[in-house]
Amino acid sequence: MNYIVFDLEWNQSPNGKQYSDPDMPFEIIEIGAVRLNDDFEVTDTFHRLIRPEVYHWIHNSIRDVIHVNYRDLMKGVPFPQAVREFLDWCDYEYIFCTWGNQDVMELQRNMKYYGMLHLLPAPVIYSNVQSLYGLEFEGEESCRSLEHAIDFLHIDKEIEFHRALNDALFTAEVLKHIPFATIYNHPTLDVYQHPQSKKEEIHLDFPSFTKYLSREFVSREKTLKDREVTSTRCPICGKNARRTVRWFTPNNRVYYSVSRCVDHGEVGATLRIRKSEDDLFFADKTIWNATEEDVQEIRARREAMKAKK
Ligand SMILES: [Zn+2]
Repeated sequence: MNYIVFDLEWNQSPNGKQYSDPDMPFEIIEIGAVRLNDDFEVTDTFHRLIRPEVYHWIHNSIRDVIHVNYRDLMKGVPFPQAVREFLDWCDYEYIFCTWGNQDVMELQRNMKYYGMLHLLPAPVIYSNVQSLYGLEFEGEESCRSLEHAIDFLHIDKEIEFHRALNDALFTAEVLKHIPFATIYNHPTLDVYQHPQSKKEEIHLDFPSFTKYLSREFVSREKTLKDREVTSTRCPICGKNARRTVRWFTPNNRVYYSVSRCVDHGEVGATLRIRKSEDDLFFADKTIWNATEEDVQEIRARREAMKAKK
């Protein structure tokens, strides 16, 4: 198994959001990647600058951050060529690793723009090193900056940040500090290519949880009325677990519930209703075998919500 740690830099409309192409709000201009083997040793690196097709000037805020000028980019290769070369370089049996969840999404959105999305079939499962770092060193999925993690782990920062290959190298350095069990037990399922029909709906068993992505619905309410969306099956035996804390949401972003399997105990569940690019809705549900602590935490959230009301 290879770990492909990659980082993208992207540009946006230099004239402001109103001149943005809705199919390509962020145009990828650089791909940097590091390949690690099973022992987390760097075996190769990849770097391409990409000649822009959509935005013909670099947005000021982007130039200040990444120090690329437009003339350099004109020496780059077209995006479709860069992506083909990148995927060839990835080889076979690999898992993507990135800092945060945006790079995997933007890669797919840019590929869709060029009609190349079939080269990266769903479901795309990857390691979000930012959330793994949070789990390992802060006890929860925090959203620290890459530089924060580099400082915390005392990793040498002689190379500058915010160039794709350098950020990929830094992310790989952080990944090396995370135990294999944490990486293995906490994969991330990307939702950009979500199911369009009942038949395509995604049910995945991961080592410590199950994942479900629904098809699209016309409204949030319709999504929440679907029986499959709200079902809570035990992640161990797959049987319907009886709800002991009904679905509730303290913030309209995440819904929580607790159920009990007669054979395997407490079952925790979270449900996010996500909006698609076409303004439709779909459900993203996670179910796991919960500890007593998890159950208390969910109950506490519900009590806090009731107290607020
Ligand atoms: Zn069970």
